[in-house]
Amino acid sequence: MKKINTHRTPIYRESGFYLESSEQTLLAFKSESENPHEPEKYIYSRYRNPTVVAVEQQMMKIEDSEWSLLTESGMAAIDIALSIFQEADDKRPWLFFTEIYGGTNSYIDSILIKRRGVNTIRFASGADNYVLEEFIEIIELKKPKLIYFEAVSNPMLIVTDVLSFINEAKKRNIIVIIDNTFATPYLWKPLADGADLVIHSATKYLSGHGNISAGVISGNDKVLMQKAIEYRKWVGHMLSPDDAYRLGTQMQTFELRFGKQIENAFHLAEFLENHYNVEKVFYPGLESHASHNFANKIFNKKGYGAMITFQLAGDTDNIKRERSKTFIEKFSRYFYLIPSLGDTETIFMPVDAVWGDKYPYPGTIRLSIGIENYEHIENAINFALDF
Ligand code: PLP
Repeated sequence: MKKINTHRTPIYRESGFYLESSEQTLLAFKSESENPHEPEKYIYSRYRNPTVVAVEQQMMKIEDSEWSLLTESGMAAIDIALSIFQEADDKRPWLFFTEIYGGTNSYIDSILIKRRGVNTIRFASGADNYVLEEFIEIIELKKPKLIYFEAVSNPMLIVTDVLSFINEAKKRNIIVIIDNTFATPYLWKPLADGADLVIHSATKYLSGHGNISAGVISGNDKVLMQKAIEYRKWVGHMLSPDDAYRLGTQMQTFELRFGKQIENAFHLAEFLENHYNVEKVFYPGLESHASHNFANKIFNKKGYGAMITFQLAGDTDNIKRERSKTFIEKFSRYFYLIPSLGDTETIFMPVDAVWGDKYPYPGTIRLSIGIENYEHIENAINFALDF
């Protein structure tokens, strides 16, 4: 068949690719392990797939990375980013900041600690942010092999002094892994500031339509990334060609979408801060937010993200609980309560109902702002806040 004049790499739904001779087979397997970035031939889709590779190259441009690998979920990317550092005879601890995605915390507890016996330590934030001096103290004392944190925390949206943390870690040859799902490469590119690996849940802003589960792990170090490719191959964390194709198409509008989401979020955060039925708003773009200065420093004033967490006002906890129910019922007439984020549609979730053990404050709502006409979101919020 003639080569088809398509400008996009099509969806190659092959599980295996034919090879024409034993020489070619030998060469294909050799190049696959020696230079997995540019193999001689495709062999098997769990190893590499042309549709996935095309989208990885697109991702490398967005991330400014030498290597980007797509995975079947954000958790798969996290599993790879951490597992490649596990070595039977290396007992150095891995240091995790505490304000990270709940699923990652569960993965640390039930997989890394309970099943694999990894030596882990936690670094807790102070009242409003992580304290650099405490970080230096703990890494001096415990000498961790790696550190792991999120640039913008969930759900309180703490923006840490990431540049200083990376700097202190790198001075001591500690590996730095960052989950940059909330900030995205639009606001910050951690590899350019010295991080070793950056991961995203591409389920969120990168795909942006709430219809794909995907992850990405990026880095500039060939040795590390070859280990990541190997781990992905043997554990089977590869993204499917269908999802890769859709991710690639949707990533074409990533900057456009996220720019609008950020703009909407900024206006809404200001609106909420001035609303009489709102007690407190957590949004790094507000001067009242404890991390505002760090956010300015890291994001270069390109914006402050599109997540907002806020707390309802009320004289007692019971009143706040009742108001929270009312808010959810009324806001649900316009937007869905979905425990995810980053979609083109505004979605929301009650923080205390999901993370009550950690954030028990009744009436705490997390909003993931979409690309709707701003007035529509403000009107819906105003309606839902009218108690
Ligand atoms: N990292 C962060 C910050 C997240 O919020 C999530 C999911 O909510 C993940 C990672 C996991 O991603 P996924 O659901 O795509 O596995």
